[in-house]
Amino acid sequence: IPEASFRASRPVRGALWSWAAPVSQPNPRLVSVSDAGARLVGLTRSALWDDPQAAAAAWSGSRRLPGSRPWAHCYGGHQFGVWADQLGDGRAVSLGEVVSGAHGRWEVQLKGAGRTPYSRFADGYAVRRSSIREYLAAEHMDALGVPTSRSLSLVFTDRIVQREDEELGAVVARLAPSWVRFGSFELPASRREHTAVQALADYVLGRHFPDIIAEEAQGMAGGQNRYARLLRRAVQLTATTVARWQAVGFCHGVMNTDNMSILGLTIDYGPFAFLDAYDPGFVCNHSDPAGRYAFGEQPRVALWNLLRLASPLAPLIERGPCADWSASWAGEPQKATVTATQGILNEYSAVFGAEYARVMRRKFGLFNCANDNDLDTVVQPFLDLLSEAGTDYVYAMRTLCDVPQALAGEDGGSKALARLADLLSGRSLNTVCDPEPWKHRMHAYLQGVYAPRLLEDASGSLTAAVAAVVGERMRRENPRFVLRNWVAQDIIERAEKGDDAWVDRALAVLTTHAFADRLPEELAEAEKYAGPVPEWGEGLQCSCSS
Ligand code: AMP
Ligand code: MG
Ligand code: MG
Repeated sequence: IPEASFRASRPVRGALWSWAAPVSQPNPRLVSVSDAGARLVGLTRSALWDDPQAAAAAWSGSRRLPGSRPWAHCYGGHQFGVWADQLGDGRAVSLGEVVSGAHGRWEVQLKGAGRTPYSRFADGYAVRRSSIREYLAAEHMDALGVPTSRSLSLVFTDRIVQREDEELGAVVARLAPSWVRFGSFELPASRREHTAVQALADYVLGRHFPDIIAEEAQGMAGGQNRYARLLRRAVQLTATTVARWQAVGFCHGVMNTDNMSILGLTIDYGPFAFLDAYDPGFVCNHSDPAGRYAFGEQPRVALWNLLRLASPLAPLIERGPCADWSASWAGEPQKATVTATQGILNEYSAVFGAEYARVMRRKFGLFNCANDNDLDTVVQPFLDLLSEAGTDYVYAMRTLCDVPQALAGEDGGSKALARLADLLSGRSLNTVCDPEPWKHRMHAYLQGVYAPRLLEDASGSLTAAVAAVVGERMRRENPRFVLRNWVAQDIIERAEKGDDAWVDRALAVLTTHAFADRLPEELAEAEKYAGPVPEWGEGLQCSCSS
């Protein structure tokens, strides 16, 4: 096959992927390596830095790795609620898979390595700013305990990339056990390629859910066939991941079904943002004026997306493998027959609710006893106060970590709690909210609602020693350093001025030290990232242009 055809945009029918080939890049330069990411595929940070030129050539796609035969995935998707037909990996190519025992299976992709059959009108490249964001975000999210794709390396190139202005290019080497998306199932289904849908489902099951296949073989499937159980797993994994997004204050920005992983991983970091002020209505994507993907909408959107995934799987769930379908069976199942599928989707809200409650309880220091109504009585009233005043979410949660020790103080903590309410007010931006009465209500909440619940969780006795332990555990649930938009922007600007090394050091801050009270000397400059949002960084939004 001539290489040129690897890059010729076209509709690809009857196939789930195409051969592809990364292009050679001008002056590739290794900027950062994630040691944790590298180890997933049997490498280390220092191994790549031993020969940075060779590493930059390999991980930008300029030099083909031995044994690698790259391909690009074919998929479709619903974008902002509208069926977009064929999309596919327009600027990502998979180099191969690494299966290295302890860490399982990882499919290695280069993003920004040139055109593929799925590039449509676009160039297949990625600019430095969006590459820095994706590279850092994936490793950061992992450190925050959110299921995500991972990053291996970041390489800058001297390729001039035309966006609104001319920019310079970059390539991220990224990893996931699978890059199959909801849209990977939707596209062949939309073309009535039912055997391809089944083949993809069987492929995903075989590679990623061998337990489902094994239980089926042993007749332990509990009345659900393998496709039903695949959808069920996707529902559970997606609900779990989105619950964690809500807990850490992550806004994805482009929850189109082509950006939804079949394994429930957070993928395709684009105009994402972490909350500064707590605001369910927060929209991070400049290209989403209607707020379809607003922070508070994400749990609902994920379910809507799962419905799109359920549609191609429904015939397999209701009727079994294609060969079993009767001659009269053509296309989508009738409404009345989709009861099994609907039942699976109905599990979403319970899984989401349980996971969200579990994570939020830990963030609130309620490690011992779980009350059914904690979300309504303890968590939500606090979040309501934050959204009323526009209080910084990450700062507020970290401040809560001081409550146990305040309560163990002499006067039962009343003065200390008033001071915490004061601090929270100081990190609140909503000028419509009158700070004095708000402070009183926050104080009343801390003293009258939160403190008694903490005490109950500590079996009624919060001695200084116990309080110190609870506070410390809470600090491991509530990060101090988060990849806020202004933090990402600061890192990007430094890199654009030639300080590449800062990207690598920022990675350490956002992973190893994300929960640290104090940074090591050589990273002390990053201390400001835990401080208030600077005026220039308020309300930053990103567009899809990247
Ligand atoms: P996204 O909204 O970033 O998930 O992208 C949607 C689709 O556009 C995917 O199929 C991407 O591969 C493709 N795409 C985005 N940017 C580019 C680009 N610069 N070159 C080629 N394809 C792109
Ligand atoms: Mg995408
Ligand atoms: Mg993207």
